[in-house]
Amino acid sequence: MMQKGAILVLSGPSGAGKSTIINSASKDIGEYYFSISTTTREPRVGERDGVDYIFVTKESFEEDIKAGNFLEYAIVHGNYYGTSLKPVREALKDGKLVIFDIDVQGHRLVRAKMNDITTSAFITPPTLDELERRLRARSTDDESVILNRIDNAKDEIKAVGEYDFTIINDTIEEATKEFIVVAKTARLKQSREDEEKFIAQWLGQK
Ligand code: ADP
Ligand code: 5GP
Repeated sequence: MMQKGAILVLSGPSGAGKSTIINSASKDIGEYYFSISTTTREPRVGERDGVDYIFVTKESFEEDIKAGNFLEYAIVHGNYYGTSLKPVREALKDGKLVIFDIDVQGHRLVRAKMNDITTSAFITPPTLDELERRLRARSTDDESVILNRIDNAKDEIKAVGEYDFTIINDTIEEATKEFIVVAKTARLKQSREDEEKFIAQWLGQK
């Protein structure tokens, strides 16, 4: 059988609805592995260590950088965020769809390393005003954090063209439907290596 491991990168401003959409689609996209990032930011109310993020100190994060443990990492809103290489490798080996919720810098780094198995989608509310309303409604961050996220969003939106798909999160129902299509499409993407195996099999290579 061909190896079917594939990567789906999701980016979009904080508050775009990425977590909401992944949760709402989770039963409809088959077996997947959601990559739990490591971060130095403080947990929000309700966030659990090892579930939402692995929360670590700056010192520990920097040790991991030195040890080469990250597939990619970046500084976002003044904190470190990174994807550990090992669990991703294992999930890919098992043929799973690996979903990343990472920023635009992370997307570029994943593209540079694993372009041939990567599909990406940029998720955003319809407007900056709506993003601001949702960040305030989520009420997990204080005013300065919200303003910083809005500022960052004005920059991030400029990278929308680097993604395979854009999902406008107007209603959760519609955005979830679109996300399910994107996730199914991502699974169909094959690496060059698999392509070679497939051709050899197809030719009935003796
Ligand atoms: P992200 O994971 O991208 O940071 P969240 O999933 O936490 O974003 O969503 C941010 C806030 O917006 C949450 O309070 C969520 O309930 C709300 N939200 C998400 N999608 C919608 C939508 N389509 N309409 C209104 N509110 C939404
Ligand atoms: P938040 O603090 O709202 O959870 O996330 C802030 C931003 O960091 C989001 O844009 C999110 O996609 C991004 N992010 C989360 N984990 C990672 C990661 O492992 N790597 C990178 N590059 N960005 C991440």
